[in-house]
This record gives sequence, C-alpha cells and structure tokens, in this order.
Amino acid sequence: MGHKAYIAFKTEDMAYKDAIGELQNIDFIDKSLTEPINSTDQEYIMQKIRSDYLYDSTVTIFLIGEYSAENLGEYEQYYIKKELQASLYSSSMHSKSGILGIVLPQMKSSIWQGSTTCWKCGKQHSIVKINDSTVVSEFSYNYYIPEEGKCAWGEDDRYCVLVTWDDFVADPNGWIDQAFDKRLEPIASKTKVRP
Ligand SMILES: [Zn+2]
Repeated sequence: MGHKAYIAFKTEDMAYKDAIGELQNIDFIDKSLTEPINSTDQEYIMQKIRSDYLYDSTVTIFLIGEYSAENLGEYEQYYIKKELQASLYSSSMHSKSGILGIVLPQMKSSIWQGSTTCWKCGKQHSIVKINDSTVVSEFSYNYYIPEEGKCAWGEDDRYCVLVTWDDFVADPNGWIDQAFDKRLEPIASKTKVRP
C-alpha cells in the first residue's frame, strides 16, 4: 500500500474515481464532500473538512476533466475548491497534503499544446494550459507558483504534480509518492490555500 489518498472529482468523472478504486494496492478514502459546511469561519470549515472527509490522507488526487474549470463559477465548483483548500490547509494538527492532478484523456489535448519560443528569454518552453479555463484556481496557483520575472517553471517550482491518466495508471503509487514528497520540499512553503 502507498500513502493514503483522497480524491476530488466532479460527478461527471465518477467513472474514473471508480477505476482508481479498482487499481491494485491503492489506499484511498471513498468519500466526497457533498454538503456545504454551514459556517462563515474559514478555519472551522477547513478543520471540519479535514476531520470529516480527508481523515488521515496525505495526498489529494484531483481529477481534471471537462468540468473542472474555475471559469464555470464559484458556486458550481464549491465542493472541489473546498476539498483542495482543505488539502492545502495545515495546522498544528496536521501538515498540508500533496496534490496530484490527473489529466483525464478527453482533456489531454486542451492542456498540452506543444511548445513555443519565449518572448522573454528566447528559449523553447512547453505550453501546458493549467489555468482558469481548465482547472480551479487552487490547483493552477499552486502549479504555477508566481514569482516575479519568471517565464518558465521547472519541477522544483511547482507544488502540484501533474500526470496524464495513462501514466498514472501505469504507476499509481509512484505518482502518489511524488506528490507526497512535495510536502517536505522548499516549494511547500509557498503554497496558498485560497488563491
Ligand atoms: Zn522564457
């Protein structure tokens, strides 16, 4: 068994959540936030989601499908945003979770769009569209953690880990480990819960 994972997904992508459950040696919590937490106290909401849903999971898997975009609105994305916020939230009781974004097959070509010559540094950069039209801001912010003057992000500059569905299925616990290990890397000090 690997590190225990929690899965944040849109109901439209439930078949993929079920498929993860059928993989060998996957330790995950089969529960989802489906009721709003009735409070205006953000700290309370975060603690409540942690204790009632995320439990002792240390990695949150975020399924990136056709309905995961920030642009669909805060109301529509309430649950996945809160699940990711609680995952990024740390307190004296627990540290933040690692975040693993899995790009579902139907989204692959919308996210990876080849490469381009950078107008700033003149080098070639890959085009990876992790933004408000593909994911909620909790994921995009912590994937492209802002830094002044930066034009390209290497693996050490990102807190969120990104993988295609096929690569994930080939080595699920290897990818979960990679997201888990980010918790102790220097970039973990630059994450934001509510970007
Ligand atoms: Zn550049």
